[in-house]
Amino acid sequence: MYRSHHCGQLRALNINEEVTLSGWVQKSRDKGFVIWVDLRDRYGITQLIFDAERTPEAMVNMAKSLGREFVIQVTGTVIERASKNPNLETGDIEILVSKLTLLNEAKVPPFTIEDQTDGGEELRMKYRYLDIRRNPVKNNLIFRHKVTQEVRSYLSSQEFIEVETPYLIKSTPEGARDFVVPSRMNEGQFYALPQSPQTFKQLLMVGGMDRYFQIVKCFRDEDLRADRQPEFTQIDCEMAFVNQEDILNIFEGLTRHLIKSIHGKDISSFPRMTYDDALQTYGNDKPDIRFGMKFGELNAISQHKDFGVFNSAELVVGIAVPGGNSFTRKEIDSIINWLKRPQVGALGMIYSRCNDDGTYKSSVDKFYDQEDLAQWAEVTGAQAGDLVCVLSGPTDKVRTQLSALRMELAERLGLRNPKEFAPLWVTDFPLLEWDEDSKRFHAMHHPFTAPKPDQIKLLDSDPGAVKANAYDLVLNGNEIGGGSIRIHDKATQALMFNHLGFTPEEAKEQFGFLMNAFEYGAPPHGGLAFGLDRLVAILGGQETIRDFIAFPKNNSGRDVMIDAPSAIDAAQLNELHLKVDIK
Ligand code: ASP
Repeated sequence: MYRSHHCGQLRALNINEEVTLSGWVQKSRDKGFVIWVDLRDRYGITQLIFDAERTPEAMVNMAKSLGREFVIQVTGTVIERASKNPNLETGDIEILVSKLTLLNEAKVPPFTIEDQTDGGEELRMKYRYLDIRRNPVKNNLIFRHKVTQEVRSYLSSQEFIEVETPYLIKSTPEGARDFVVPSRMNEGQFYALPQSPQTFKQLLMVGGMDRYFQIVKCFRDEDLRADRQPEFTQIDCEMAFVNQEDILNIFEGLTRHLIKSIHGKDISSFPRMTYDDALQTYGNDKPDIRFGMKFGELNAISQHKDFGVFNSAELVVGIAVPGGNSFTRKEIDSIINWLKRPQVGALGMIYSRCNDDGTYKSSVDKFYDQEDLAQWAEVTGAQAGDLVCVLSGPTDKVRTQLSALRMELAERLGLRNPKEFAPLWVTDFPLLEWDEDSKRFHAMHHPFTAPKPDQIKLLDSDPGAVKANAYDLVLNGNEIGGGSIRIHDKATQALMFNHLGFTPEEAKEQFGFLMNAFEYGAPPHGGLAFGLDRLVAILGGQETIRDFIAFPKNNSGRDVMIDAPSAIDAAQLNELHLKVDIK
């Protein structure tokens, strides 16, 4: 028996019991006549005591030689501590050791195994198994487990069946770039790793499974942006015989269940906002609604004067920054410089201070009088003491810039409280999105998304205006889920491929299996997928996903611990019928 208890378990109640514990040496303190060792495992820390009076000399010497992270087993008696540690759950007791066994030695770890470590990111990733011994990472993994348990239990209670779909599938050009896997047995042919199980889950609906989910790895070979992983996990779901309303209700239920079971918080029904409204009101399609600062469009009340910058702009739009009138000139300049950085790219910012006495003082007093500025305040919802910040230019660009400013100021003002959860549905996404590079329309969600039935007629005349039954679930300014009602008949699917620039032959070649299936009684269906990594991070009150993944890749898509990707040898290449010019 390696242990009778774990290291987080013993309390004053256990005093005088003989126990056996196993774990890692967190640290030891050698006071000459007494040695204390903190023994750690996944569950906590228990203090061991060796002393010259009660412990045989050989064991005292052995205890003195224990290094950090040595793996040991001890047997001893639980005794009351002379000085208790209220910060430790086991802080009332210690173990007077009668038997000490060294299970394994350890080299000095390359960074401290403490909550605040001295190890940098790269080092922590290289020795991730040591990093996982640290509370912050360990607790995140345990938290992730809890979330997935709750997901499984909730969806199972709603009659969802977890079905596995294959990882070796067919490459398709639509969407992101595929990771491909050469086939040894089929020379010159390749599998692709799934970007999502999309077509398989639709085929499960044709197969009558009715309600499916899967907690599943997905793979996308995209240029890595901050906090993106080339392999990531989805909670992938699909339902048959449902409309959009049914789907939103079920997954609102799941999200509410998670927030309740994990944080004990009740969230009332989720607000809904169309994509167009989200862009107009918040400048982006995943608004953080934990705070206000809604956009106020100022064209009508700012283009009647001689201010050329506004007069020539497609959009003049502002936000009211709560309490922003207290910003010094220097602080405002720093905001303007922040906006001018290439990442944001604004040319400048106009502002108007809302003084406590009801007057205004703007950076364009030359052009606008008190009456004008009072209207700006009204349209942006500014109160006395606020600062109205105004940007102008081409609509899309200005919205993106002002949205970035809104988030930045909210961050600086502490308005993004990680303990508050503000979900919302964004609905009515456009079906298609124009791509300047390829000069054609792409599916905004994916090519299986159904246009709103009454809008199909617009597909020829104004494809960009067609709206889809597609929706995103947004939580605290992050898209945590997205899905749609699907096309379930061959003719509409063929029409869609046609609009996406596929010839009928290409459509058949790549998606013939799906269109064939649609000819064998495909039920109406739809679904969505949550990004599990991000969902877990946000529920855990954090914004980065990396420490909620046991073995993540770095920003160049590398696993620095196992050193992947790596070259393979000539024999392996040969077997796979691959020729590689190694430079
Ligand atoms: N397969 C989609 C995605 O990966 C989600 C869905 O439409 O259900 O985004």
